[in-house]
Amino acid sequence: MFLKPAMPDIFKSIAFRLTIWYAGIFSISSCVAFGLFYYIAAKALVDQTDRELLDKAAYFSNVIQRNGLVGAGNLAVIEAQAAGEKLIFFRFLYPSGEVFASSHMSYWKNMSVDKDVVKTLIQNKTPVFETLVGRPANLKSPFRDQKARVLYAFVAKNVILQTGIAMDFESRFLTAFRLVFLVAMGFIIVFSGLSGWFLVRKALSGVASIRKTAQSITGTSLEKRVAKTGSQDELDQLAGTFNRMLDRIEDLVTSIREMSDNIAHDLKSPLTRIRGFAELALVQNSSLQEYEAMAANTIEETDRLLDMINTMLVISKAEAGEGEFDFKPFDLSHMVKGACELFIPVAEDRQIQFEYDVQDNLTVYGDERMLQRAFSNLLDNALKYTPRSGRVRVSAEKTFDDGLGVKVFDTGCGIDPFHFEKIFERFYRADSSRASQGTGLGLSLARTIARQHQGEILVKSTPGKGSEFTLTLPHRNLEII
Ligand code: ADP
Repeated sequence: MFLKPAMPDIFKSIAFRLTIWYAGIFSISSCVAFGLFYYIAAKALVDQTDRELLDKAAYFSNVIQRNGLVGAGNLAVIEAQAAGEKLIFFRFLYPSGEVFASSHMSYWKNMSVDKDVVKTLIQNKTPVFETLVGRPANLKSPFRDQKARVLYAFVAKNVILQTGIAMDFESRFLTAFRLVFLVAMGFIIVFSGLSGWFLVRKALSGVASIRKTAQSITGTSLEKRVAKTGSQDELDQLAGTFNRMLDRIEDLVTSIREMSDNIAHDLKSPLTRIRGFAELALVQNSSLQEYEAMAANTIEETDRLLDMINTMLVISKAEAGEGEFDFKPFDLSHMVKGACELFIPVAEDRQIQFEYDVQDNLTVYGDERMLQRAFSNLLDNALKYTPRSGRVRVSAEKTFDDGLGVKVFDTGCGIDPFHFEKIFERFYRADSSRASQGTGLGLSLARTIARQHQGEILVKSTPGKGSEFTLTLPHRNLEII
């Protein structure tokens, strides 16, 4: 099978392609500049020659008026000799094209009279110019093509002057110009290629360092960062953005690792207990009541696991914007009071002083069931983390910005500020609370629900003294009712 040879890496690089563009644009611009200059120079030379020819025609017109045709013919010979017979010639003809006088024409003997041009001159009565390219007779010209500019003009009634000037100087100048152009273009292409390569490599050196860092990053070495130059240019900003992106990825990877550790830990305990019950049932000769108790315990543990998994699903769905929330206006005061009533027996059981102060008619637009779940989690935590003879207080009121604040205050164990953000992560439990039952999902779910309502859960706490959790619902949540 025929395999296409792989293109070397350098040809695929942006540096190479940019250099080609740079050198290409530089060379094309130089070509255009040279071409323009060439055209202007060539045109200026032709214009100057034309002016000289017209001057000669005017001069001979005067001579004919003063000295007649014979005088003009003699003067043509003298003028051509003086200027150089290889350089200029004069020929006088009748409108029929018949030549009646001329300068010495041995050098110009190939120069015939163009009948068509004579016709055009007779018709238009304005001088006609012609540029002829060719090798005049007897000429040992170093150039391949000799150019001459020829004028046909009336110099008296029925007398036409045909005069021509060899454009040697122009040819030499333009040939030299072309030579200079070729040498200069060679230099420009080499120079623009080298300088382009140098500039592009320098400009892209930042990209190379970002690429190297990205290559060296593996799952285990996320801590590497691109060195910033401090120049604040685009590449420096890109390096900054890249580093910030790495910071974020590192945070996410760390939190995913922590979360999976926590999940593993939290799944392990109930599963170990379920396994224990099953093992007991297998090896131990127990009574019917004992079997029933083991089955009940197993159901309780599995329910807890299912609840945990369901809560995880609710959080994930809500975070992905796929939560099944049923938004409608409802009386939040009623909901909060109802939940508090439900928790009174729990508080009494633990000998915790429990009180609530809820403003009436706090209407919000939201999912009542979900907000009740969020609030119950806060209340449950307050009662769970407050020791006997502690105090829990709930309040719900409008805030100064016409939003809503539902506060749950307790005199429990409190939270170290170090954990303030972490306690809202899934499965995170502060070490101090590991003794009490829980999944570490309550606050995470509460915050997700609050955020789905454009609200927030805020925490204030002093370790050893107590905590205050606030569920806020913003003004705009109420405005749309
Ligand atoms: P769980 O209560 O099931 O552990 P949560 O997500 O509800 O999970 O809470 C996460 C952690 O936040 C708890 O493990 C506890 O360490 C801390 N916490 C929550 N509420 C309180 C509170 N009122 N007082 C002290 N610590 C609290």
